[in-house]
Amino acid sequence: MIRIADMEIDVETARLLGHEYCVKYVVFPFRLEDEHLWVALRDIKNMDILTNISDITGCFVVPVAADEGDILFHVNRIFGADALHSIASQFLVDEQLKNHIESSEILTEISSAPAVRLIDSLIETGVLNRASDIHIEPYGQQLRARYRVDGQLITYSTVDITLLPNVVSRLKIMGGMDISEKRLPQDGHFTMTDSNFFAKGDKVDFRLSTLPTVFGEKIVIRLLYGETSYIKKEALGFYDEDLKKLTALFNQPYGAIFMTGPTGSGKSTTLSSFLRELNHETSNIITVEDPVENPILGISHINIERTGLNFPGALRHILRQDPDVIMIGEIRDEETARIAIQAAITGHVVLSTLHTNDAAGVIERLTDMGIPSYLVAAALNGVISQRLVRRICQDCAYPTTLTQTQAQLLQLPVHTPVQLGRGCSHCNHTGFRSRFAIYEYIIINENIRRQISSQPSKFAEGIRSLQGLRNNAVRALIDGKTTADEIIRALSRENLAGEV
Ligand SMILES: [Zn+2]
Repeated sequence: MIRIADMEIDVETARLLGHEYCVKYVVFPFRLEDEHLWVALRDIKNMDILTNISDITGCFVVPVAADEGDILFHVNRIFGADALHSIASQFLVDEQLKNHIESSEILTEISSAPAVRLIDSLIETGVLNRASDIHIEPYGQQLRARYRVDGQLITYSTVDITLLPNVVSRLKIMGGMDISEKRLPQDGHFTMTDSNFFAKGDKVDFRLSTLPTVFGEKIVIRLLYGETSYIKKEALGFYDEDLKKLTALFNQPYGAIFMTGPTGSGKSTTLSSFLRELNHETSNIITVEDPVENPILGISHINIERTGLNFPGALRHILRQDPDVIMIGEIRDEETARIAIQAAITGHVVLSTLHTNDAAGVIERLTDMGIPSYLVAAALNGVISQRLVRRICQDCAYPTTLTQTQAQLLQLPVHTPVQLGRGCSHCNHTGFRSRFAIYEYIIINENIRRQISSQPSKFAEGIRSLQGLRNNAVRALIDGKTTADEIIRALSRENLAGEV
Protein backbone atom coordinates (compact mmCIF):
# COMPACT_ATOMS: atom_id res chain seq x y z
CA MET A 1 0.00 0.00 0.00
CA ILE A 2 1.36 3.41 -0.97
CA ARG A 3 0.61 6.90 0.29
CA ILE A 4 -0.18 8.96 -2.79
CA ALA A 5 1.27 12.08 -1.19
CA ASP A 6 4.68 10.35 -1.25
CA MET A 7 4.49 9.82 -5.02
CA GLU A 8 5.43 12.29 -7.69
CA ILE A 9 2.08 13.33 -9.17
CA ASP A 10 1.80 14.52 -12.74
CA VAL A 11 -1.26 16.78 -12.77
CA GLU A 12 -1.96 16.30 -16.50
CA THR A 13 -1.94 12.53 -16.10
CA ALA A 14 -4.19 12.78 -13.06
CA ARG A 15 -6.85 14.39 -15.24
CA LEU A 16 -6.60 11.70 -17.91
CA LEU A 17 -9.65 9.66 -16.89
CA GLY A 18 -11.95 12.49 -15.81
CA HIS A 19 -13.51 13.24 -12.43
CA GLU A 20 -16.56 11.00 -12.71
CA TYR A 21 -14.64 7.90 -13.73
CA CYS A 22 -12.06 8.32 -10.96
CA VAL A 23 -14.74 8.67 -8.29
CA LYS A 24 -16.90 5.84 -9.65
CA TYR A 25 -14.11 3.27 -9.79
CA VAL A 26 -11.95 4.81 -7.05
CA VAL A 27 -8.83 5.13 -9.18
CA PHE A 28 -6.17 7.79 -9.44
CA PRO A 29 -3.72 7.83 -12.37
CA PHE A 30 -0.62 9.81 -11.45
CA ARG A 31 2.32 9.02 -13.72
CA LEU A 32 2.75 8.33 -17.42
CA GLU A 33 6.05 7.14 -18.87
CA ASP A 34 6.64 5.39 -22.20
CA GLU A 35 3.01 4.34 -22.45
CA HIS A 36 3.09 2.94 -18.95
CA LEU A 37 0.38 4.47 -16.79
CA TRP A 38 0.72 4.25 -13.00
CA VAL A 39 -2.69 4.03 -11.38
CA ALA A 40 -3.49 3.95 -7.66
CA LEU A 41 -6.52 1.78 -6.89
CA ARG A 42 -8.13 -0.15 -4.07
CA ASP A 43 -7.92 -3.62 -5.53
CA ILE A 44 -4.94 -4.14 -7.80
CA LYS A 45 -6.24 -7.57 -8.84
CA ASN A 46 -9.46 -6.22 -10.35
CA MET A 47 -8.76 -7.15 -13.96
CA ASP A 48 -11.97 -5.55 -15.26
CA ILE A 49 -10.94 -2.05 -14.21
CA LEU A 50 -7.33 -2.57 -15.32
CA THR A 51 -8.42 -3.71 -18.77
CA ASN A 52 -10.94 -0.90 -19.01
CA ILE A 53 -8.35 1.77 -18.18
CA SER A 54 -5.95 0.21 -20.62
CA ASP A 55 -8.65 0.30 -23.34
CA ILE A 56 -9.53 3.95 -22.67
CA THR A 57 -5.96 5.24 -22.54
CA GLY A 58 -4.17 2.80 -24.80
CA CYS A 59 -1.51 2.48 -22.13
CA PHE A 60 -0.08 -0.43 -20.24
CA VAL A 61 -1.43 -0.05 -16.68
CA VAL A 62 0.89 -0.33 -13.68
CA PRO A 63 -1.44 -0.89 -10.72
CA VAL A 64 -0.46 0.35 -7.23
CA ALA A 65 -2.53 -0.36 -4.14
CA ALA A 66 -3.72 2.62 -2.08
CA ASP A 67 -6.35 3.41 0.53
CA GLU A 68 -9.79 4.43 -0.78
CA GLY A 69 -9.79 7.65 1.24
CA ASP A 70 -6.34 8.54 0.02
CA ILE A 71 -7.38 8.02 -3.62
CA LEU A 72 -10.56 10.08 -3.35
CA PHE A 73 -8.80 12.87 -1.51
CA HIS A 74 -6.34 13.30 -4.39
CA VAL A 75 -9.02 12.95 -7.06
CA ASN A 76 -11.04 15.71 -5.41
CA ARG A 77 -7.98 17.83 -4.89
CA ILE A 78 -7.11 17.73 -8.59
CA PHE A 79 -10.64 18.28 -9.89
CA GLY A 80 -11.65 20.71 -7.11
CA ALA A 81 -8.76 22.92 -8.10
CA ASP A 82 -10.03 22.64 -11.70
CA ALA A 83 -13.18 24.51 -10.73
CA LEU A 84 -10.94 27.39 -9.68
CA HIS A 85 -9.06 27.20 -12.95
CA SER A 86 -12.22 27.46 -14.99
CA ILE A 87 -13.14 30.64 -13.09
CA ALA A 88 -9.62 31.93 -13.67
CA SER A 89 -9.73 31.19 -17.39
CA GLN A 90 -13.05 33.02 -17.68
CA PHE A 91 -11.24 35.99 -16.22
CA LEU A 92 -8.54 35.83 -18.89
CA VAL A 93 -11.19 35.90 -21.62
CA ASP A 94 -12.75 38.93 -19.93
CA GLU A 95 -9.35 40.62 -19.79
CA GLN A 96 -9.08 40.35 -23.58
CA LEU A 97 -12.60 41.66 -24.04
CA LYS A 98 -11.76 44.60 -21.84
CA ASN A 99 -9.43 46.05 -24.44
CA HIS A 100 -12.43 46.68 -26.68
CA ILE A 101 -14.60 48.37 -24.11
CA GLU A 102 -14.44 52.03 -23.25
CA SER A 103 -16.93 52.49 -20.44
CA SER A 104 -15.13 52.15 -17.13
CA GLU A 105 -18.31 51.09 -15.35
CA ILE A 106 -18.84 48.03 -17.52
CA LEU A 107 -15.16 47.39 -17.29
CA THR A 108 -15.19 47.10 -13.51
CA GLU A 109 -18.26 44.92 -13.60
CA ILE A 110 -16.82 42.48 -16.10
CA SER A 111 -13.39 42.17 -14.60
CA SER A 112 -14.55 41.83 -11.03
CA ALA A 113 -17.09 39.02 -11.60
CA PRO A 114 -14.55 36.17 -11.87
CA ALA A 115 -12.64 37.56 -8.89
CA VAL A 116 -15.88 37.52 -6.92
CA ARG A 117 -16.56 33.91 -7.85
CA LEU A 118 -12.96 32.93 -7.20
CA ILE A 119 -13.04 34.44 -3.72
CA ASP A 120 -16.46 32.91 -2.98
CA SER A 121 -15.10 29.53 -3.99
CA LEU A 122 -11.97 29.96 -1.87
CA ILE A 123 -14.00 31.00 1.15
CA GLU A 124 -16.51 28.21 0.70
CA THR A 125 -13.81 25.54 0.52
CA GLY A 126 -12.06 27.13 3.49
CA VAL A 127 -15.19 27.09 5.65
CA LEU A 128 -16.14 23.54 4.62
CA ASN A 129 -12.69 22.32 5.62
CA ARG A 130 -12.82 24.34 8.84
CA ALA A 131 -9.63 26.14 7.83
CA SER A 132 -8.29 28.64 10.34
CA ASP A 133 -6.54 30.72 7.67
CA ILE A 134 -6.56 31.22 3.93
CA HIS A 135 -3.35 32.46 2.34
CA ILE A 136 -3.50 34.12 -1.06
CA GLU A 137 0.00 34.80 -2.21
CA PRO A 138 1.66 35.93 -5.42
CA TYR A 139 4.75 34.00 -6.53
CA GLY A 140 6.34 34.96 -9.84
CA GLN A 141 3.70 34.17 -12.47
CA GLN A 142 1.45 32.30 -10.07
CA LEU A 143 -1.14 33.19 -7.49
CA ARG A 144 -1.15 30.47 -4.86
CA ALA A 145 -3.99 29.65 -2.48
CA ARG A 146 -3.25 27.71 0.69
CA TYR A 147 -5.35 26.68 3.68
CA ARG A 148 -4.32 26.09 7.24
CA VAL A 149 -6.29 23.13 8.57
CA ASP A 150 -5.55 21.72 12.04
CA GLY A 151 -2.40 23.81 12.14
CA GLN A 152 -0.90 22.64 8.85
CA LEU A 153 -0.68 24.64 5.63
CA ILE A 154 -2.01 22.79 2.58
CA THR A 155 -1.65 24.10 -0.97
CA TYR A 156 -5.05 24.18 -2.60
CA SER A 157 -4.40 25.61 -6.02
CA THR A 158 -2.40 28.02 -8.11
CA VAL A 159 -3.90 30.27 -10.77
CA ASP A 160 -2.52 32.85 -13.15
CA ILE A 161 -1.01 35.96 -11.54
CA THR A 162 -3.11 38.31 -13.72
CA LEU A 163 -6.00 37.75 -11.31
CA LEU A 164 -4.12 39.32 -8.43
CA PRO A 165 -5.20 42.99 -8.71
CA ASN A 166 -8.89 42.07 -8.93
CA VAL A 167 -8.69 39.54 -6.11
CA VAL A 168 -6.90 42.03 -3.89
CA SER A 169 -9.33 44.87 -4.72
CA ARG A 170 -12.36 42.68 -4.14
CA LEU A 171 -11.06 41.51 -0.75
CA LYS A 172 -10.13 45.05 0.25
CA ILE A 173 -13.66 46.21 -0.54
CA MET A 174 -15.11 43.33 1.46
CA GLY A 175 -12.79 44.13 4.36
CA GLY A 176 -13.48 47.87 4.30
CA MET A 177 -9.90 48.69 3.38
CA ASP A 178 -8.38 51.33 1.12
CA ILE A 179 -8.08 49.85 -2.39
CA SER A 180 -5.75 52.58 -3.60
CA GLU A 181 -3.20 51.88 -0.87
CA LYS A 182 -0.88 49.17 -2.21
CA ARG A 183 2.41 49.98 -0.52
CA LEU A 184 1.49 49.71 3.15
CA PRO A 185 0.16 46.71 5.07
CA GLN A 186 -3.54 46.99 5.93
CA ASP A 187 -6.03 45.24 8.20
CA GLY A 188 -9.73 44.72 7.64
CA HIS A 189 -12.58 42.40 8.44
CA PHE A 190 -16.01 41.25 7.35
CA THR A 191 -18.64 38.82 8.58
CA MET A 192 -20.73 36.22 6.75
CA THR A 193 -23.88 34.55 8.03
CA ASP A 194 -26.36 32.02 6.70
CA SER A 195 -24.66 31.48 3.38
CA ASN A 196 -25.55 28.24 1.50
CA PHE A 197 -22.44 26.52 2.72
CA PHE A 198 -22.82 27.52 6.36
CA ALA A 199 -24.84 25.59 8.88
CA LYS A 200 -27.95 27.52 9.89
CA GLY A 201 -27.22 30.23 12.42
CA ASP A 202 -23.51 29.85 11.78
CA LYS A 203 -21.50 33.03 11.68
CA VAL A 204 -17.97 33.40 10.42
CA ASP A 205 -15.76 36.44 10.97
CA PHE A 206 -12.99 37.06 8.48
CA ARG A 207 -9.92 39.06 9.53
CA LEU A 208 -7.90 40.24 6.58
CA SER A 209 -4.37 41.45 6.47
CA THR A 210 -2.38 42.54 3.44
CA LEU A 211 1.37 42.65 3.13
CA PRO A 212 3.19 44.08 0.11
CA THR A 213 5.79 41.58 -1.18
CA VAL A 214 8.13 41.89 -4.15
CA PHE A 215 5.62 39.94 -6.26
CA GLY A 216 2.59 41.97 -5.17
CA GLU A 217 0.25 42.08 -2.21
CA LYS A 218 -0.12 38.93 -0.16
CA ILE A 219 -3.38 38.46 1.72
CA VAL A 220 -4.02 36.28 4.73
CA ILE A 221 -7.60 35.74 5.86
CA ARG A 222 -8.14 34.45 9.37
CA LEU A 223 -11.46 32.66 9.88
CA LEU A 224 -13.18 32.93 13.25
CA TYR A 225 -16.19 30.67 13.57
CA GLY A 226 -18.32 32.72 15.98
CA GLU A 227 -20.00 30.88 18.83
CA THR A 228 -19.49 27.53 17.16
CA SER A 229 -15.74 27.89 17.44
CA TYR A 230 -15.88 28.46 21.15
CA ILE A 231 -14.24 25.51 22.82
CA LYS A 232 -15.65 24.30 26.12
CA LYS A 233 -12.95 23.88 28.73
CA GLU A 234 -13.70 20.12 28.80
CA ALA A 235 -12.66 19.90 25.14
CA LEU A 236 -9.33 21.72 25.48
CA GLY A 237 -7.45 18.51 26.24
CA PHE A 238 -6.89 18.73 29.99
CA TYR A 239 -7.11 15.49 31.96
CA ASP A 240 -10.03 15.45 34.42
CA GLU A 241 -7.98 15.76 37.59
CA ASP A 242 -6.04 18.69 36.11
CA LEU A 243 -9.20 20.39 34.88
CA LYS A 244 -10.61 20.29 38.40
CA LYS A 245 -7.52 21.96 39.82
CA LEU A 246 -7.43 24.57 37.05
CA THR A 247 -11.12 25.38 37.48
CA ALA A 248 -10.50 25.98 41.17
CA LEU A 249 -7.51 28.13 40.22
CA PHE A 250 -9.58 30.38 37.94
CA ASN A 251 -12.24 30.73 40.62
CA GLN A 252 -9.98 32.27 43.25
CA PRO A 253 -11.22 35.72 44.30
CA TYR A 254 -8.05 37.58 43.28
CA GLY A 255 -4.52 37.03 41.96
CA ALA A 256 -2.78 36.62 38.62
CA ILE A 257 -2.83 33.65 36.24
CA PHE A 258 -0.46 33.62 33.30
CA MET A 259 -0.70 31.48 30.18
CA THR A 260 2.43 30.93 28.20
CA GLY A 261 3.51 29.24 24.98
CA PRO A 262 4.70 30.23 21.51
CA THR A 263 2.46 31.92 18.92
CA GLY A 264 -0.23 29.50 17.77
CA SER A 265 -0.07 27.39 20.93
CA GLY A 266 -3.73 28.06 21.71
CA LYS A 267 -3.10 30.04 24.88
CA SER A 268 -5.73 32.69 24.07
CA THR A 269 -8.32 29.98 23.33
CA THR A 270 -7.72 28.36 26.71
CA LEU A 271 -7.86 31.68 28.49
CA SER A 272 -11.04 32.57 26.65
CA SER A 273 -12.72 29.27 27.61
CA PHE A 274 -12.07 29.88 31.28
CA LEU A 275 -13.04 33.54 30.97
CA ARG A 276 -16.49 32.46 29.74
CA GLU A 277 -16.89 30.47 32.94
CA LEU A 278 -16.27 33.59 35.00
CA ASN A 279 -18.80 35.58 33.02
CA HIS A 280 -21.64 36.10 35.51
CA GLU A 281 -24.04 38.97 35.85
CA THR A 282 -22.47 39.69 39.22
CA SER A 283 -18.97 40.31 37.95
CA ASN A 284 -17.41 43.10 35.93
CA ILE A 285 -14.98 41.66 33.39
CA ILE A 286 -12.89 43.92 31.20
CA THR A 287 -10.36 42.83 28.63
CA VAL A 288 -7.77 44.83 26.77
CA GLU A 289 -6.49 43.18 23.62
CA ASP A 290 -4.63 43.82 20.39
CA PRO A 291 -6.94 42.97 18.64
CA VAL A 292 -10.00 41.46 20.37
CA GLU A 293 -9.97 37.78 19.40
CA ASN A 294 -13.00 36.05 20.90
CA PRO A 295 -15.69 38.56 21.86
CA ILE A 296 -18.01 37.26 24.59
CA LEU A 297 -21.40 38.74 25.37
CA GLY A 298 -21.45 40.39 28.78
CA ILE A 299 -17.74 41.15 28.81
CA SER A 300 -16.31 44.58 28.01
CA HIS A 301 -13.64 44.03 25.40
CA ILE A 302 -11.34 46.89 24.55
CA ASN A 303 -9.46 46.96 21.28
CA ILE A 304 -6.27 48.78 22.21
CA GLU A 305 -5.67 49.97 18.66
CA ARG A 306 -8.94 51.89 18.55
CA THR A 307 -8.39 53.71 21.85
CA GLY A 308 -5.18 55.46 20.88
CA LEU A 309 -3.84 54.38 24.28
CA ASN A 310 -1.02 51.99 25.10
CA PHE A 311 -1.52 49.00 27.43
CA PRO A 312 -0.48 50.79 30.65
CA GLY A 313 -2.66 53.78 29.76
CA ALA A 314 -5.69 51.62 29.03
CA LEU A 315 -5.14 49.61 32.23
CA ARG A 316 -5.15 52.74 34.38
CA HIS A 317 -8.56 53.65 32.95
CA ILE A 318 -9.86 50.10 33.41
CA LEU A 319 -8.84 50.09 37.07
CA ARG A 320 -11.08 53.12 37.64
CA GLN A 321 -14.05 51.11 36.27
CA ASP A 322 -14.33 48.84 39.31
CA PRO A 323 -13.34 45.59 37.54
CA ASP A 324 -13.44 42.13 39.14
CA VAL A 325 -11.57 40.39 36.36
CA ILE A 326 -9.09 42.00 33.98
CA MET A 327 -7.72 40.15 31.01
CA ILE A 328 -4.67 41.60 29.30
CA GLY A 329 -4.10 40.13 25.83
CA GLU A 330 -0.35 39.92 26.25
CA ILE A 331 2.20 41.45 28.57
CA ARG A 332 5.08 42.76 26.49
CA ASP A 333 6.63 45.47 28.62
CA GLU A 334 7.71 46.21 32.14
CA GLU A 335 5.14 48.88 32.87
CA THR A 336 2.21 46.67 31.88
CA ALA A 337 3.65 43.86 34.00
CA ARG A 338 3.96 46.19 36.97
CA ILE A 339 0.36 47.37 36.74
CA ALA A 340 -0.88 43.79 36.27
CA ILE A 341 0.96 42.57 39.37
CA GLN A 342 -0.28 45.56 41.37
CA ALA A 343 -3.87 44.92 40.29
CA ALA A 344 -3.59 41.24 41.27
CA ILE A 345 -2.35 42.15 44.74
CA THR A 346 -5.07 44.73 45.27
CA GLY A 347 -7.98 42.34 44.91
CA HIS A 348 -8.50 41.74 41.17
CA VAL A 349 -8.30 38.60 39.12
CA VAL A 350 -5.74 39.28 36.41
CA LEU A 351 -5.40 36.95 33.43
CA SER A 352 -2.76 37.37 30.79
CA THR A 353 -0.35 35.68 28.43
CA LEU A 354 3.41 35.96 28.40
CA HIS A 355 5.77 34.83 25.70
CA THR A 356 8.11 32.40 27.47
CA ASN A 357 9.31 28.85 26.73
CA ASP A 358 7.75 27.17 29.73
CA ALA A 359 5.81 27.73 32.93
CA ALA A 360 8.96 28.33 34.99
CA GLY A 361 9.98 31.01 32.49
CA VAL A 362 7.14 33.25 33.63
CA ILE A 363 8.72 33.71 37.05
CA GLU A 364 12.09 34.47 35.48
CA ARG A 365 10.59 36.88 32.96
CA LEU A 366 8.72 38.86 35.58
CA THR A 367 11.76 39.18 37.83
CA ASP A 368 13.91 40.06 34.78
CA MET A 369 11.44 42.86 34.10
CA GLY A 370 12.47 44.30 37.44
CA ILE A 371 9.50 43.20 39.52
CA PRO A 372 10.72 42.20 43.00
CA SER A 373 10.37 38.47 43.64
CA TYR A 374 8.26 39.04 46.79
CA LEU A 375 5.66 40.88 44.63
CA VAL A 376 5.69 38.13 41.99
CA ALA A 377 5.21 35.58 44.79
CA ALA A 378 2.35 37.55 46.32
CA ALA A 379 0.52 38.21 43.04
CA LEU A 380 0.79 34.86 41.24
CA ASN A 381 -1.87 32.20 41.65
CA GLY A 382 -0.85 30.00 38.77
CA VAL A 383 0.97 29.54 35.50
CA ILE A 384 -0.03 27.30 32.59
CA SER A 385 2.13 26.51 29.59
CA GLN A 386 0.74 24.71 26.56
CA ARG A 387 1.26 23.59 22.95
CA LEU A 388 -1.29 22.35 20.45
CA VAL A 389 -1.05 18.94 18.83
CA ARG A 390 -3.36 17.23 16.34
CA ARG A 391 -5.74 14.59 17.62
CA ILE A 392 -5.72 11.21 15.87
CA CYS A 393 -8.99 10.51 14.02
CA GLN A 394 -10.82 7.82 16.01
CA ASP A 395 -12.45 6.44 12.87
CA CYS A 396 -9.21 5.33 11.28
CA ALA A 397 -6.81 4.93 14.22
CA TYR A 398 -4.69 1.78 14.29
CA PRO A 399 -2.12 0.48 16.78
CA THR A 400 1.58 0.52 15.98
CA THR A 401 4.92 1.05 17.76
CA LEU A 402 7.54 3.79 17.74
CA THR A 403 10.25 3.97 15.12
CA GLN A 404 13.87 3.84 16.26
CA THR A 405 14.29 7.61 15.75
CA GLN A 406 11.08 8.53 17.55
CA ALA A 407 12.01 6.28 20.46
CA GLN A 408 15.41 7.93 20.72
CA LEU A 409 14.05 11.47 20.55
CA LEU A 410 11.38 10.78 23.13
CA GLN A 411 13.61 8.55 25.27
CA LEU A 412 11.03 5.77 25.26
CA PRO A 413 11.36 2.04 24.49
CA VAL A 414 10.95 1.16 20.78
CA HIS A 415 8.15 -1.31 21.55
CA THR A 416 6.00 1.40 23.22
CA PRO A 417 2.48 0.88 21.85
CA VAL A 418 1.16 4.02 20.12
CA GLN A 419 -1.49 4.89 17.53
CA LEU A 420 -1.57 6.43 14.06
CA GLY A 421 -4.43 7.57 11.82
CA ARG A 422 -4.65 5.84 8.45
CA GLY A 423 -6.79 8.60 6.88
CA CYS A 424 -10.50 8.24 6.07
CA SER A 425 -13.49 10.23 4.85
CA HIS A 426 -14.19 11.51 8.39
CA CYS A 427 -10.85 13.27 8.69
CA ASN A 428 -10.34 14.64 5.20
CA HIS A 429 -7.88 11.75 4.74
CA THR A 430 -5.32 13.32 7.02
CA GLY A 431 -5.56 10.83 9.92
CA PHE A 432 -6.24 13.75 12.29
CA ARG A 433 -9.31 15.52 13.58
CA SER A 434 -9.11 18.73 15.62
CA ARG A 435 -6.38 19.68 18.05
CA PHE A 436 -5.86 19.66 21.78
CA ALA A 437 -3.42 21.02 24.34
CA ILE A 438 -0.44 19.31 25.88
CA TYR A 439 0.47 21.29 28.95
CA GLU A 440 2.16 21.82 32.29
CA TYR A 441 1.10 24.07 35.12
CA ILE A 442 2.14 25.40 38.49
CA ILE A 443 -0.46 26.19 41.12
CA ILE A 444 1.05 28.49 43.68
CA ASN A 445 0.56 27.59 47.35
CA GLU A 446 2.07 29.17 50.44
CA ASN A 447 5.13 26.95 50.35
CA ILE A 448 5.79 27.86 46.71
CA ARG A 449 5.25 31.56 47.45
CA ARG A 450 8.06 31.39 49.99
CA GLN A 451 10.39 29.70 47.49
CA ILE A 452 9.63 32.21 44.72
CA SER A 453 10.08 35.09 47.10
CA SER A 454 13.47 33.97 48.42
CA GLN A 455 15.04 32.11 45.46
CA PRO A 456 13.09 32.65 42.24
CA SER A 457 15.71 31.21 39.83
CA LYS A 458 16.34 28.14 41.95
CA PHE A 459 12.60 27.52 42.09
CA ALA A 460 12.30 27.92 38.30
CA GLU A 461 15.18 25.46 37.79
CA GLY A 462 13.51 22.93 40.09
CA ILE A 463 10.21 23.15 38.20
CA ARG A 464 11.99 22.82 34.87
CA SER A 465 13.75 19.63 35.96
CA LEU A 466 10.34 17.98 36.42
CA GLN A 467 9.79 18.08 32.61
CA GLY A 468 6.06 18.60 33.08
CA LEU A 469 5.26 19.38 29.45
CA ARG A 470 7.24 16.43 28.11
CA ASN A 471 5.62 14.02 30.58
CA ASN A 472 2.14 15.25 29.79
CA ALA A 473 2.85 14.87 26.07
CA VAL A 474 4.10 11.30 26.52
CA ARG A 475 0.96 10.47 28.49
CA ALA A 476 -1.21 11.75 25.62
CA LEU A 477 0.91 9.67 23.21
CA ILE A 478 0.57 6.46 25.21
CA ASP A 479 -3.17 7.12 25.58
CA GLY A 480 -3.39 7.11 21.77
CA LYS A 481 -4.60 10.72 21.56
CA THR A 482 -1.83 11.92 19.26
CA THR A 483 1.19 10.69 17.32
CA ALA A 484 4.87 10.64 18.21
CA ASP A 485 5.69 13.01 15.35
CA GLU A 486 3.15 15.56 16.56
CA ILE A 487 4.70 15.53 20.01
CA ILE A 488 8.25 15.76 18.73
CA ARG A 489 7.25 18.74 16.62
CA ALA A 490 5.43 20.48 19.48
CA LEU A 491 8.20 19.89 22.00
CA SER A 492 11.03 20.94 19.72
CA ARG A 493 9.27 24.22 19.02
CA GLU A 494 10.06 25.02 22.62
CA ASN A 495 13.63 25.85 21.72
CA LEU A 496 12.52 28.28 19.05
CA ALA A 497 9.76 29.90 21.05
CA GLY A 498 11.92 32.45 22.81
CA GLU A 499 13.24 33.87 19.57
CA VAL A 500 9.90 34.91 18.08
ZN1 LIG B 1 -9.99 9.24 9.82
